[in-house]
Amino acid sequence: MTVRVRIAPSPTGNLHIGTARTAVFNWLFARHHGGQFILRIEDTDTARSRPEYTQNILDGLTWLGLNWDEGPFFQSERLDLYRQAVQTLLDKDLAYRCYCTPEELEKMREAQKARKEAPRYDNRHRNLTPEQQAQFEAEGRKPVIRLKIDDDREIVWRDRVRDTVTWKGRDLGGDMVVARAAQGDEPFGQPLYNLAVVVDDIDMNITHVIRGEDHIANTAKQILLYEALGATVPEFAHTPLILNQKGQKLSKRDGVTSIWDFKEMGFLADAIANYMTLLGWTPPDSTQEIFTLPEAAKEFDLDRVNKAGAKFDWDKLDWINSQYLHQIPNEELVNVLIPHWQSAGYAFDAEADKAWLLQLTEMISPSLKRLSDAVKESRLLFGENLTFDDKGSAQMQQEGAKEILQAVLEELNNYPNLTVEEAKAIVDRVTSEKNVKKGLVMKSLRAGLTGELQGPDLMQSWVLLHQRGVDKVRLQQAVNS
Ligand code: GLU
Repeated sequence: MTVRVRIAPSPTGNLHIGTARTAVFNWLFARHHGGQFILRIEDTDTARSRPEYTQNILDGLTWLGLNWDEGPFFQSERLDLYRQAVQTLLDKDLAYRCYCTPEELEKMREAQKARKEAPRYDNRHRNLTPEQQAQFEAEGRKPVIRLKIDDDREIVWRDRVRDTVTWKGRDLGGDMVVARAAQGDEPFGQPLYNLAVVVDDIDMNITHVIRGEDHIANTAKQILLYEALGATVPEFAHTPLILNQKGQKLSKRDGVTSIWDFKEMGFLADAIANYMTLLGWTPPDSTQEIFTLPEAAKEFDLDRVNKAGAKFDWDKLDWINSQYLHQIPNEELVNVLIPHWQSAGYAFDAEADKAWLLQLTEMISPSLKRLSDAVKESRLLFGENLTFDDKGSAQMQQEGAKEILQAVLEELNNYPNLTVEEAKAIVDRVTSEKNVKKGLVMKSLRAGLTGELQGPDLMQSWVLLHQRGVDKVRLQQAVNS
């Protein structure tokens, strides 16, 4: 049997982190078993689906390296297939027309509420006589189509993650709607979600349905549909939800929903993909944390997917990202960082200043965890004028600080092409000439060059500022401050 799995996003928003993680698991499973990974866009909800979201999803999967073997298939182009299936269910007498009006359904629910019962459809139109049907038709009522669900039925499946799962028919809310009411003359209206999924999974020969555990109740309903349509039930694997540190479902409140939020925060695609493999899966060597997707695929199987929710760990993601980031040669990294500096509004010429930007990259790259850290790390190196923060300006009030910088300025006249060694020599000379502690010289120099007391390597920063002709300007400003 060839493994065939699918990812079936609804294009009602940008590629969601949960969908992306489900896609990762499906991709890994397909690749591990030499199977097929299929992409299906579930766009039957015409009110909420949008082509730009479809594009966003395709771009996101591609960015993460999740290439698909078939598709994208669009449910909106397959409506005839779903209609045929609804007709089959009617022909087999496994489904029927329900003529209840929204008001009648609402009344039913209120009565149930008053009796402290769970809301459900009470199957009242399951056995209408032809005369009753004709009466409703004559009133102009448009029926929905409902699949019969036996209340006494137990639906049991061996979930590849959760082991045996059992649902009672009576907990599924009564006979389920599989097609909406017709708008015009057609025999019934738009087929609904669970039916479309099952028809597609049958038609696409899906062997394993791997998806988030929020779909478990759908699975119980879908198994009934497979049976009603006379098809083989695939295997199911329900993956754990992604949780925040408080153990709640990761949501907008955590600042991330779409995969692009991570890109914007400065994470690399390879690192995100790597981290998602670990969100709910434990590799056989549980100490191994760095994997490319093809490497993880060699090891991946469903038996090591965890039942418990997967806690999102920002520190781990930062660490993984830094591992990937540090593997990028600086000559390449500089080109990746340039757009980040540009969007921060720093003034430079990407071409003319390339050599300088490369040196800046070499200086800051060891401390970067996210690409966006480059903005913060190099903030004090761009621009010309000095702006002090509180600590920087307090440093300039220290006794001797300005004299030290004055002496440095005089020394600088001898070094048209300042090197790190020469910068160190200047510091040593000024320290002994002025007979002060070296710490005072270093701190004053940092304040005079950058306005602050924290930052990347001081001697290297100085050399970079010198190359742009900015060090003397700033030191003079500091002396005059
Ligand atoms: N379209 C569904 C969703 O976006 C997925 C359905 C499925 O995987 O069966 O949640």
